[in-house]
Amino acid sequence: MALISNDLINEIRRSVDIVDVISNYLPLTQKGKNFFGVCPFHDDTNPSMSVSKEKQIYTCFSCGATGNVFKFVMDYENISFVEAVKLVADNAGISINIGNNYKQKVNKNLEPLYKMYELSEMLYQNNINTVQGKEAIEYLKKRDIDESIIKEFGIGLSLHKRDVLTKLFLSKNYSYDVMLKSGLITKNDYGYIDMYQDRIMFPLWDVSGRIVGFSGRIYKGDGNFKYINTKETEIFKKGEILYNYHRAKDEARRLNTVIIMEGFMDVIRAYTIGVKNVVATMGTAVTKEHVTLLKRMAKNIILLFDGDAAGAKATYTCANELIKVGIVPKIVRLEENLDPDEYIKKYGKEKFLGKLTHPINVMDFKLSYLKKERDLTSNDDMSKYINDVLKELVNIEDEILFELTIKKITEESHLSEELLRKKVNDLKSNDDKKEENVVIKSEKVKKVTNKYTQAEENLIYYMLKSPEVIKIYDRKITYMPTDVYRFLARDISYFYKQYHLINVADFMTFLRDDKEKLDALSHILSLPLKEDFTLEEINDYINAIRDYNINFEQQRLKTKMREITDPIEKAKIAQKIIELKVKGD
Ligand SMILES: [Zn+2]
Repeated sequence: MALISNDLINEIRRSVDIVDVISNYLPLTQKGKNFFGVCPFHDDTNPSMSVSKEKQIYTCFSCGATGNVFKFVMDYENISFVEAVKLVADNAGISINIGNNYKQKVNKNLEPLYKMYELSEMLYQNNINTVQGKEAIEYLKKRDIDESIIKEFGIGLSLHKRDVLTKLFLSKNYSYDVMLKSGLITKNDYGYIDMYQDRIMFPLWDVSGRIVGFSGRIYKGDGNFKYINTKETEIFKKGEILYNYHRAKDEARRLNTVIIMEGFMDVIRAYTIGVKNVVATMGTAVTKEHVTLLKRMAKNIILLFDGDAAGAKATYTCANELIKVGIVPKIVRLEENLDPDEYIKKYGKEKFLGKLTHPINVMDFKLSYLKKERDLTSNDDMSKYINDVLKELVNIEDEILFELTIKKITEESHLSEELLRKKVNDLKSNDDKKEENVVIKSEKVKKVTNKYTQAEENLIYYMLKSPEVIKIYDRKITYMPTDVYRFLARDISYFYKQYHLINVADFMTFLRDDKEKLDALSHILSLPLKEDFTLEEINDYINAIRDYNINFEQQRLKTKMREITDPIEKAKIAQKIIELKVKGD
């Protein structure tokens, strides 16, 4: 990774305005001195993120996310610190030369794995373009996947040979251990062999567009295992990946809509007819990580899963997960149990686009889902159905959707609307009570923070506000007990010595992508402390930290004394303990 100097980074930071940069990602409204927007880093419904023009940092009152312009871009785009600097500089029209390697993430252990995927992708793509790839190309063409799509999605071919890739890796000096770890090589009675043989290879990417897995499909005759997907590895985690995210995000942001499908073939098919704001879950239930990614893409989410019963069930579960975090998705269902790929092939572009432009609302989908396999002429089934719908309504914050649904089930059940409303309210108040319990529990956990940690946190808080406090720290504190606070305080002190000022936005740049320190810093900046301080208070914090150190040292010496038998040594230690006690008092 090429290094960019802190001076240059700070120059870039100062030449842009954080308000402008964040405005490119989400709408901000000015209230007083600050700007506010909906926080993209937690499940925010009210604007809880404030952006300070003066301090050039953002802070979320709800989840505590905070940072300068680079941290925002880094977290929003899921890119490294250096990439974020580059992106901000590019957008500001500042040219910086940081080499071509800036895309590489820092984790050195994982680099061989990424490299192996790059190599295998090159090999597979090469194969498909040789004579041996003819049959595969024909196969794809018959399925309306033409050369431009093959190219765009990097589709390749593994040959009908046992160990081409294994040999390639050996020639590059990869150990068998790493090969197995990659998921590309496996071991059987014959020894080490290629995982994929004689299959059409569809690369799978992580959110930043690096290949981290493959799905290999058979293309000759019928066989078991139509598709083989790479197993989960250190770089391939299905729950963190949305297929096609890196390619779809810009289009999704432009249209403010993202479509979620179940399979990567559906995504590729949608592409062939020009629908590009589409991603797929890799056959897993929607996870927290997925939700975070989706929220960054667009406000409107359309679930377009397979048309069969399993797809309906997956739609139902996924919709619930999204509603829990305040996203109300729209739904498209396909007839005849078809998946999007099959539907487009059978009915063509226009009919599919017609479906997309008329999604149904989530409650209508749920009503029909909950009705399925129930006989609503029976009182028993009707009562179960209505109760299920009422439970669903508890989580619906959209008033119009709520009213429409109440009206619908009133008609269906012939019950009084009042009764139904009352039922929902009863369910809601039960839920509220449960939530209160949770809040009380978490309050208790928070109070466990001991007074030493609190002193460390408060001291750092004011070090960030005043050079005077930094100077006191330099003179009086030798050692902060908590590792991360010790490093943070040292960094602040160092930063001040170098730049002769303390400025939170620049200090954050200085920390780059040190997640642990940045998290600790966020926590400290979110503390509800007053703006000004007295020297007395600062001294209290210093004394608390000193007390801790003295106590700690005393304990250590006492344990040591117990272990030692030599009476002279024992006496020496006893003397030290007494000295410490005097110091402490
Ligand atoms: Zn937040």
